[in-house]
Order: sequence, then structure tokens, then C-alpha cells
Amino acid sequence: MSKIVHDHLIYILEKEEGGSMSYMLDTSKRTTKLEDIIQNFHDPFVVFNSKMEAVFANSGFYALLDDGEVRDEQILKKLQNCYQCLNFKGKKLDALECPIHKALHYEFIHNGELQLAHKQQKHSTYYYVSTRSITIDKEDEDLYLIIMRDVTNTIQTELTGKEFIQIAAHELRTPITSIKGFTQLVYERYKERSKSWHFQPTINIIKDMERDETFLKIMLDEVHRLDELTDELLSIFKLEQGKLEIEVEETEVTTFVAELIDKFHIPNDFHRIHYDSSPLNKHIRIDKKQIKRVLHNFLSNAVKYSPLASDIYVTVECQDDQVVVGVKDEGFGIPEECQSRIFDRFYRVEHPEHEEIPGYGIGLHICREIIRLHGGDTYFESILGQGSTFYFRIPCV
Ligand code: ADP
Repeated sequence: MSKIVHDHLIYILEKEEGGSMSYMLDTSKRTTKLEDIIQNFHDPFVVFNSKMEAVFANSGFYALLDDGEVRDEQILKKLQNCYQCLNFKGKKLDALECPIHKALHYEFIHNGELQLAHKQQKHSTYYYVSTRSITIDKEDEDLYLIIMRDVTNTIQTELTGKEFIQIAAHELRTPITSIKGFTQLVYERYKERSKSWHFQPTINIIKDMERDETFLKIMLDEVHRLDELTDELLSIFKLEQGKLEIEVEETEVTTFVAELIDKFHIPNDFHRIHYDSSPLNKHIRIDKKQIKRVLHNFLSNAVKYSPLASDIYVTVECQDDQVVVGVKDEGFGIPEECQSRIFDRFYRVEHPEHEEIPGYGIGLHICREIIRLHGGDTYFESILGQGSTFYFRIPCV
């Protein structure tokens, strides 16, 4: 390869490395070291000419292939012989989805996810695949670089963390369910018993009893929060792995919402939910358990983020063959600069009022994904200091 091509390659690879190679480029050893630098560049890369013939590959790329030979259009086939091509979530990529295939067909790729799972050795390496064209000058033909940034360490650390949380959340479910059940039982029995005592308690006993009841209530609320958190974490993992499945059934929407509001437990005596339940006679195909979850999340957010405004309005409307369900509150509202990220995973509004309210920033993300699985969408309107309305809409049957 000509020196000028070397120079261009060095320039591009240098950018990929984030500047860590520059100390070598600045020295007088530059020309003698070019070959070394390119060959020993950590990430695999391969250079093609305009006929898509591989004209150069570094040792990292040769090492990927079992026979260590690089030849033009067979590259993808060879990779597929040794490896299964997957994305980072483990979904098998067919040829058209594979970033190397796309790159070989002149598609511009930036950080395309590629997991190479070795068929025999049962280990995976993870890459961000990107392409660059190397234009030297008008007379020379253009060259084309496919570079595979090895991110195996980062992804594996991330995966181990995720797996740990997933296992922990799963394992916590059983004890939490049992603690929740027994705490609830003790709390209910305590309240019943204190009504039917036959003696006149002293002031001190009354104070003790009130304190015990408060403690039991706190335990119940906290264990309820833990239960919700483990549930939400497990749902996130299922969503990410594409394993959250829905089982739909045809349902009349106004009645469904009315029943749900009826059973919704408002955790205080202050808030009131207003709902006009006159039947619209509109049917949707939904997984009732999952849509209940969405509405629950909207309602509990409306309660949580409006501690000083008691009224919450639920509406069901029909718009262009879609059913739109809205939950309106007159609470804090959401600052404009935070609005675009509201449905992001783990996002919580950075605002003093919001930060005092407990939460994990998971609920709305899950709601959006559940509604997507139903072929619908979620959105909201909000004005800081005036309140918010969260909506979901789903096609009618
Ligand atoms: P959490 O409430 O557990 O933090 P969510 O995903 O349900 O998580 O909500 C994400 C963020 O959106 C919340 O932290 C809150 O700042 C904001 N938010 C959600 N619903 C409302 C609402 N009705 N009014 C104001 N802010 C809200």
C-alpha cells in the first residue's frame, strides 16, 4: 500500500482511537513505524477498493477468521462460517441486517451493533462497526474502510451488571410477596383488634398503639414500593429481551376504565378522581393486565406529582378510529426543557419539587413500550405550575 494511503489510514484510525496514537505520529520514527501502527491497531479493520476487493486488513481482522485469509466478497461468508452474527441483545441478524453486509454494499454505517458468537468456542465478541471512505486524490481510486471497534469488555461488564440485577430482582420476589402478605395481615388484624378491646386503655397505651399502627403502615407502604420496583425491573429486562408478550382480548373501553378506577387505591383522603363513565361502546383489543398497569402508573403519578391539587380527571374519547385515554392533574407540571426525555428509561425530572417525590423513572418507559406493543402511542401535555395530562391511544377494533 502506498505511503499516502498509509497516511490517510493513520489519520482515520487515530481519530477512532481518540488521539491515543498521536505520540507516535509526532516523532521522527513516523515513517518506519507506520506499518507497525496499522498492523497492531487493536480493532479489526479491512480496506476495500472500489470493486469491493479487500486490499488490506490488519492482524486483528485476520485473527477473526479461522483460516486467517482475507479475500474480498467471501469475507462475510467466512465470518458466518465461524460465527453467528447477532445484535447486542442476542437477536440473530440475517444477512441484510448484518452491518458488515451493509458495509460491503456501500451503505454508510456508524456504530452498527455486531456480536460475533463463535460457533465452536462458545464465546462472543462485541463490535461497533463503522465505515469510512478514504479519498486520496482525483487520480487514485477511492478506498473504503470497515472498522470494527471492539467493545467486548464494556458490554460484558454491562451484561454482568444487568444479569445480577435481573437475578436479584427475581430472587427478591418471593420474600417480598411473603413479607407484604404478612404485614398486610398483621396491620388489618391490629386495626380490628384495637376496635374490640374490652378495657379502657391509658393515654400511654393509646399513644403506643397509634405509633405501632403508623410503623405497620410505613412497613406496608415500603414493602409495596419494593414490590413495584422488582416488578418494574423485571419488566424492563423482559422488554429489552423482547420477552414481554401480550395476550389481547376484545374489551369495551369505558367499562374497563370505570372498573379500574373503582379498584384504584388512592393512598390518601385528599385526591378525587373524576370520570364520566357513560358508555361509548368502543372496543379495543388489549392485554387487560398490561393496560391496567399503564393506567395505574398514570393515576399514581397524577396523585404523586400533585400533592396540593386534589382533582384528577380521567377521560376516554374517540378520535379517528382510535380510543384516547387521558389522565389530567393540576399538579407540578413538567419543565419544558425536561419534556423530551419523560419516557426515557430511568429518567426523572430534575426539579426541586419532583426530586422530593420517591420514584425510579421506570414506570413511564414501561407504559410507552406496553402501548407500542398494542400498536398505539403515548404522549402528554404539561405546563409547569399548572399540571399535566398523560394520554395513550390505541386503535379501535
Ligand atoms: P417515577 O415517578 O417513578 O419517577 P415515571 O417513569 O413514572 O417514574 O415518571 C418519570 C418522571 O416523569 C417522574 O420522575 C416525574 O418527574 C415525571 N412525571 C411523571 N408523571 C408526572 C405528572 N403527572 N406530573 C408531573 N411530572 C410527572
